[in-house]
Amino acid sequence: MARLRQQNVSAAQWAPNGSALGAPDLTSPDNQLFGSNVFSPAVQRQRLPKDVFRMLSKTLAKGEALDTSLADAVALAMKEWALEKGATHYTHMFQPLTGLTAEKHDSFFGPTGEGTALAEFSGKELIQAEPDASSFPTGGIRATFEARGYTAWDPTSPAFILENPNGALLCIPTAFVSWTGEALDHKIPLLRSMDALSKSAVRALKLLGNKTAGRVFTTVGAEQEYFLIDQQYYFERPDLVTCGRTLFGAKPPKGHELDDHYFGSIPERVLACMLDTEKELAKLGIPIKTRHNEVAPAQYEVAPIFENSNVGSDHQQLTMQIMQNVARRYGLICLLHEKPFAGVNGSGKHNNWSMGTDDGENLLDPGETPHENLQFLFFCAAVIQAVNKHQGLLRASIASPGQDHRLGANEAPPAIISIFLGAELEKVFDAIEEGETAESTPESFLGLGTAVLPPLPLHGGDRNRTSPFAFTGNKFEFRALGSSMSLSLPNTVLNTIVAEAVDYLSEELEDALSDGESLEAALPPILQRSYAANKQIVFGGDNYSDEWHTEAEQRGLLNLRATPDALPYLIDDQTTTLFSNYGVLSERELESRYEVFAEQYVTKINIEAETASSIAKTMLLPAAARHLALLNDAGLAELASEAHELIKELDFAIKALEKANLAEEQPHDDALNHGEYMRDVVIPAMADVREAADKLEKLVADDLWPLPKYSEILFIK
Ligand code: ADP
Ligand code: MG
Repeated sequence: MARLRQQNVSAAQWAPNGSALGAPDLTSPDNQLFGSNVFSPAVQRQRLPKDVFRMLSKTLAKGEALDTSLADAVALAMKEWALEKGATHYTHMFQPLTGLTAEKHDSFFGPTGEGTALAEFSGKELIQAEPDASSFPTGGIRATFEARGYTAWDPTSPAFILENPNGALLCIPTAFVSWTGEALDHKIPLLRSMDALSKSAVRALKLLGNKTAGRVFTTVGAEQEYFLIDQQYYFERPDLVTCGRTLFGAKPPKGHELDDHYFGSIPERVLACMLDTEKELAKLGIPIKTRHNEVAPAQYEVAPIFENSNVGSDHQQLTMQIMQNVARRYGLICLLHEKPFAGVNGSGKHNNWSMGTDDGENLLDPGETPHENLQFLFFCAAVIQAVNKHQGLLRASIASPGQDHRLGANEAPPAIISIFLGAELEKVFDAIEEGETAESTPESFLGLGTAVLPPLPLHGGDRNRTSPFAFTGNKFEFRALGSSMSLSLPNTVLNTIVAEAVDYLSEELEDALSDGESLEAALPPILQRSYAANKQIVFGGDNYSDEWHTEAEQRGLLNLRATPDALPYLIDDQTTTLFSNYGVLSERELESRYEVFAEQYVTKINIEAETASSIAKTMLLPAAARHLALLNDAGLAELASEAHELIKELDFAIKALEKANLAEEQPHDDALNHGEYMRDVVIPAMADVREAADKLEKLVADDLWPLPKYSEILFIK
């Protein structure tokens, strides 16, 4: 390996002009680039017949079902636009329950029978397609004999062109449904949850005196963490190639202790890659706002400007794809796994979430008038109530094997869901709870009764990086998402649980108002009750500390450390009732998700375990044996005996892991049981193999060790 390592070529090969698609033109003004590959409203206005454009815009703004008679006209315009952009094929892009994106390409061109081909694309093809989708996981919704499912156009997420050096592809965002009408994807429930929240929030706004808002949109902006490493190391590590994370690797002498990487200057090759990525994203209408180094060496972060949840989630999927593709042009690999390197900070995704009206008001913005503040406190209280009630479900919505290395381990955020409000906002809610709202001192924080409420500070001032769910000025930030995850499910959950809490508070408010009370008099006691009942979820301290674990337990908060601990909350009575009340997921749809996630957990751990045992047996053990022979040849008896002991330890651990991996050792009756077996038997067996191997890595001659080491992978940029 050292031989290969010495000629680390891919880094040297890279030159500013070496990218596969030609050198990125960094001087090109972004405003011309931005959205240039999107079938945006502006393009639609230009290309659609006036009445078609008007009807399309109207239905979209109102969130109504689309009149399918428009489809032919839209398809024609879309096809002409795409052909001009060099597209030869189109695809319905959808999001099966794997959490990835799926596409099946169809050519625009059909033979005419006269030896020529004609570009065809009808409204029918725009609206609906039938991918051969029998092998997507459905959690039992669709037996294979009735394997048909279809994709349906989502006109609310704009179509776009994906470029490739050898052609271009028109991508149409779609939903994926079974013929019996059940959602087989992550998009449909998200859209349903957005509708649910809109309905509840508009009802609440009416009670709060807002007569102008017709629709409320949830918004999302995700801060994405990732690693960039040289591709040569990647290809030399079968664990990275197969599992996306290293299964072996001793801690390097230098980690992030020096904090010299975080927010440091960005290495040139990496920056070139980032700029190129951002250019590609800009073409797709994905606005990138910030980029910087993250805590771990070779770790970075990128954040877009927020969009409505549906488009934002679609764009997140696309962002991950583009990041991975562009990295390859620079001899880099983009790692999105939650924990690519043990002992080194993992990657997460901060899900910034809020609600906004169609007339442009952010409902989580404290605002400037007492009235706006009342409205803000109402929605804030609803979020607190929702998160407290559905902590288990929120935790389940972000569960995955990759996440188990972060949540519940010694790394933030913890597996315990809690809310950070910030000192100012917490003071406000404490005052409400104390019933101080009736006080009329002009200086007091809350003169709710007297309408002298001073503006709440926009930024709570303080920050708490350890909190899994934090109020950050005018939005909540759900920080516990994994870096490789789709945003759809966590946002579906957030939207729905908040819809429920908003309705709960609205009902109380309706009752009080119908008794003739004024809004200013009616609201405080409602907020007071809600906060008192739910404030156990509010925590402003250090979420990493042992004391918090003890205190959270005393408070009765859930601490769901591993995926199999969390998944049952997806299908408990409270969740089932919630989702069916709001028409977001039927019991069967929920069951299917639970089944798929449990199966994925088992499958992913199984792949890791088999990879670990194979690498250990066929790469590491032989290297150690060669090293032992060297020591023996040199007559180094003491060193040889040390090496011999470790080799025996490794051999023993490999045998135990092989046994744990045997199908006949594993319970196959039920996916959750199987998951628990992986958690309790297979993962510890993998850890034992790794422990012995990592000790050997520090002992075996460097030129014999077959895997690139952390000190190389993480520090050669
Ligand atoms: P912070 O420093 O608090 O994390 P930033 O301004 O850097 O705030 O924003 C972080 C992310 O939050 C960005 O992706 C941004 O687009 C997103 N964001 C900002 N406002 C909202 C909002 N109202 N709804 C959803 N996401 C938002
Ligand atoms: Mg943030």
